[in-house]
Amino acid sequence: MKVCKFGGTSMATAESIRQIETIIQSDSQRKYVVVSAPGKRFKGDTKVTDLLYAANAEKEQFGIAGDSIEEIRERFVALANELNLELDMDCYIDKVEEGINCAKTADFAASRGEYLAAILLAEKLGYRFIDAADIIKFKVDGTFDADSTNDLVKELKSIATGIVIPGFYGSLPDNTIKTFSRGGSDITGAIIARGVGATVYENWTDVNGFMITDPTIVKDSKQMEVLSYEELRELSYMGASVLHPDSIFPIKEDGIPINIRNTFEPENKGTLIIADTSEYPKASVVTGIAGRKGNTTISLKKAMMNSELGFGRRVLSVLERYGISFEHMPTGIDTMSIVITEKGLNGIEQAVINDIKNKVAPDNIEVIHSLALIAVVGHGMANQMGTAAKIFAALYEAGINVRMIDQGSSEMNIIIGVEEKDYENAIKAIYYAFFG
Ligand code: ADP
Ligand code: ASP
Ligand code: MG
Repeated sequence: MKVCKFGGTSMATAESIRQIETIIQSDSQRKYVVVSAPGKRFKGDTKVTDLLYAANAEKEQFGIAGDSIEEIRERFVALANELNLELDMDCYIDKVEEGINCAKTADFAASRGEYLAAILLAEKLGYRFIDAADIIKFKVDGTFDADSTNDLVKELKSIATGIVIPGFYGSLPDNTIKTFSRGGSDITGAIIARGVGATVYENWTDVNGFMITDPTIVKDSKQMEVLSYEELRELSYMGASVLHPDSIFPIKEDGIPINIRNTFEPENKGTLIIADTSEYPKASVVTGIAGRKGNTTISLKKAMMNSELGFGRRVLSVLERYGISFEHMPTGIDTMSIVITEKGLNGIEQAVINDIKNKVAPDNIEVIHSLALIAVVGHGMANQMGTAAKIFAALYEAGINVRMIDQGSSEMNIIIGVEEKDYENAIKAIYYAFFG
């Protein structure tokens, strides 16, 4: 049996929902469907999930959700009408509105996009709706409860009909709703795939699979035929937003393949993500290139740092106290740089710097803002002679100044820091150096 997750764009219009129906009907193995909230219909449109967060913010500010709920209502009512469904969408939206207004949480509000989308799609497909709150479980501390969830998901196998499950959320032991982080419907799909023992986890989106690099930067980026779980994790964590980086954890142990597919071009085979890709021929030692803006580097210098016992620990204890996790930490003999997302330092930067100064008395401390990180990823890549030379020659020729280099210990990535203004050009330069 196959688990199929359809993303926000696939759920955005009546036409795309009909397309989902065609895909489901074309293969009787497609029995388990996980669905996202309707996404953007056109450039500049707002995702339903964002409207729901806005509705919750309206409730918090004015005591009652306003315009955003009406926008959501219009979208769902229009979908149900255009698809000729006999669903009282107004009544469902009234209940959602009531829930948001009676002081439920932001997570509750955000989850309702997937909830409504699944009810609608189940009706369209003639499949059974199963609420994610009943099968996806979190522990009291808010972490995902894999064991309880897996036991509950296994029970779905006894249901004879097809099933539609909302992505993105589950419930805490007291039955309140808890969501994964943004893009989390991908994780729900993986959890269901594991629980029901799927032969494949199909992740249907709006591109022909995983591109070697972000197609919004390199328009003609080639498509990957395969990539490994590990490569996927590196690339998606570093910004290749096509799949949530945590999606591999539920399915890794059982080796269930993920197949990224395009709802709008179902004949394309997409990209296959598996544990071991060594049997597939590789066009290049580089599998993919991803990146993201919005990073800050704190660079410390201190003579004899290398022999000062506990230096690193004291610096990191400051980050821990402020609840900051770091992205990278390249070090030299007397230097140490810590790369942190700008979001992580928001509003506390000066306090963190002062605290570090107090703790380790560096000779010099410098903060570099607006750093973009780029990850060049591929198994065994860092071992292959000439790979780094090719990357840096390409950046040099493009006139791009490299601010940071970090070769991860995994031998499968090289991370490069450049100024944000150079980000897109750096991605292009590296892409064409290997795939031009
Ligand atoms: P969904 O709503 O289906 O979950 P997402 O918007 O989360 O879809 O992910 C698909 C988008 O990811 C694509 O439209 C594309 O703009 C973006 N993307 C970023 N990097 C890549 C990449 N390397 N390959 C494919 N798509 C990418
Ligand atoms: N709808 C949620 C989001 O926008 C989850 C998802 O689409 O996977 O983040
Ligand atoms: Mg997504």
